[in-house]
Amino acid sequence: MSRKDFRKHNDGFLCAKCGAKNAPALKSERNHCFSCLFSLHVDEDTPGDRKSMCGGLMEPFSLDHKGKKGFMIRHRCIECGKEILNRAAEDDVGINKIL
Ligand SMILES: [Zn+2]
Ligand SMILES: [Zn+2]
Repeated sequence: MSRKDFRKHNDGFLCAKCGAKNAPALKSERNHCFSCLFSLHVDEDTPGDRKSMCGGLMEPFSLDHKGKKGFMIRHRCIECGKEILNRAAEDDVGINKIL
């Protein structure tokens, strides 16, 4: 896969970590793998801005539940240490592996 594929918001992509085939998201942004929850460091300030040039793998290291918003996944880049909070998608099965 190319990293370009990952940059498009809701298109499907192949996970750079586990190789799972991610289908396009229906209701939310597909910015992390539904299976292992890993992401790529493509956002700099806010989820979806796609301003970062890092491109490192981002590891999911904590999970918060924020009422109506549902689960928020905190990702940390294994290349540069940047932390970003992402909303979990409705079909993230990886959530169940952490809980
Ligand atoms: Zn994955
Ligand atoms: Zn990074």
